[in-house]
Amino acid sequence: MSDSLKDIGAKYDVVVIGSGLAGLSCANMLARSGHSVLLLEQHHQLGGLAAWFKRKGGHIFDVSLHGFPVGMIKTCRKYWSPEIAAMIVQLKGIRFDNPQFSFTTTFDREDFTRILRERFKIPQENIEGFFNTARDMNYYDDQSMTIRELFEKFFPGRDDVVRLLMEPITYANGSTLDDPAISYGIVFSNFMSKGVYTVQGGTDQFIGKMRDELTKNGVDIRTRCPAERIVVEDQKVSGVIANGQVIKCRSVVSNGNLLSTIHKLVGDEHFSPSFIGETTRVRLNNSSCQVYMGIRKGEKIDYVGDLLFTSTAAKFDSEMLRSRNITSRTFSLYYPETRPGSDMYSIVASTNANYEDWAYLPEEEYRASKQELVESAIDALGKYIPGVREKIDYAEAATPKTFQRYTLHERGASFGTKFEGLKSSMGLNNEVPGLFHTGSVGIIMSGWLGAANYGVIVSNDVDKYLRS
Ligand SMILES: Cc1cc2nc3c(=O)[nH]c(=O)nc-3n(C[C@H](O)[C@H](O)[C@H](O)COP(=O)(O)OP(=O)(O)OC[C@H]3O[C@@H](n4cnc5c(N)ncnc54)[C@H](O)[C@@H]3O)c2cc1C
Repeated sequence: MSDSLKDIGAKYDVVVIGSGLAGLSCANMLARSGHSVLLLEQHHQLGGLAAWFKRKGGHIFDVSLHGFPVGMIKTCRKYWSPEIAAMIVQLKGIRFDNPQFSFTTTFDREDFTRILRERFKIPQENIEGFFNTARDMNYYDDQSMTIRELFEKFFPGRDDVVRLLMEPITYANGSTLDDPAISYGIVFSNFMSKGVYTVQGGTDQFIGKMRDELTKNGVDIRTRCPAERIVVEDQKVSGVIANGQVIKCRSVVSNGNLLSTIHKLVGDEHFSPSFIGETTRVRLNNSSCQVYMGIRKGEKIDYVGDLLFTSTAAKFDSEMLRSRNITSRTFSLYYPETRPGSDMYSIVASTNANYEDWAYLPEEEYRASKQELVESAIDALGKYIPGVREKIDYAEAATPKTFQRYTLHERGASFGTKFEGLKSSMGLNNEVPGLFHTGSVGIIMSGWLGAANYGVIVSNDVDKYLRS
């Protein structure tokens, strides 16, 4: 028996496969409800894409801690602990810089209303109409309107306004103008309610406190433990195979990629042909590239904003945002206040990316392209922090291949699946009793807040199943 399964229980009420924010939240709620929970994570660290890593020179880099809506405070207070919720603080300096406009905002409704009125000269009634329509959207609404149509209704012919309203959300969840308007409306309104928030203390402390809470609530946590198969017997879930060993359980929640869960962990033979037919239409979301840059210990940089949406492209174009020929980047700046007590600065440049642009490059070209990614990010950053190149003593790039390797998401998908994935994700238990999925799907359920909330929603369904 492998060490990671030492002293494993004879049977669990539920096995949660994967420790992304959805898997963690689901496991915590189920343990709090009194169920026996085993959490299996293939990586050595919990958190999934809520990841961090340490490098020489005293650097700690956060992978996906760029910003989330205020709702995360309530989610953490209710479903985790007041202590975890208290780590969340607002980011006040959100800066846009592109050929169409350049300014800093607090990224909330009040400030956006002012900017749209004063800079973009949009009539107040269109601004109000847009915000109210976006805010009143909910999941059960008509899904036929696209984001493009929503913008055209309130801001006809205004590609500069579309850029302002769309570019940050495309970075946040990979959505394009052709996605359903409700997916945009819900996510955008969440941000607009009170701006952009982050964790003081960094991802490492945040996930560390979640781990403590899970342990306190009795969750059996096993890392370096990939689940290989979900066992289905008599048409319902009966266990999981991990590290070659069968672990018995009454239900399974997979926080792994939705499509791998269906096709690889369970197997098509356990689902109805119509369900499998529907899942063939589920599209994976795009992936990402990042460049992590560490400022040499002892050096300082001036405050230039917390989040910089930068672009040299003439207009907004979601295809261009994913191109290897990068014209648009988000810079996240981490000052010493991010980790109180530290005197270190780091900067992360993020771009959306296509898996196929990176996956099939010969090794040498892949390495060279990564280096090019690093160099061009540092060059672009120099516009905002003159002389930054001389202050950086560590830089490293991640590509869609990196994201695939660390999370097992097919094609390195950063934000799960497109909108249509939600129906398949929610329908698993009707096909195979005891089988559930949680995690980034359908745009709405992705991001730190969406994933954590979806974990809680699914924990209620699992609880009902276990008590039935
Ligand atoms: C570059 C980037 C930047 C981002 N920035 C932000 C941001 O600023 N704000 C925001 O709100 N969101 C951001 N996101 C999105 C956000 O990080 C994710 O939507 C969210 O963290 C996903 O959580 P999840 O629960 O879906 O699972 P994931 O984080 O995808 O985790 C899934 C887990 O399952 C594990 N796993 C998979 N298969 C198995 C298996 N067979 N056995 C065991 N374990 C398995 C994986 O190892 C992983 O730990 C960003 C994403 C990326 C990629």
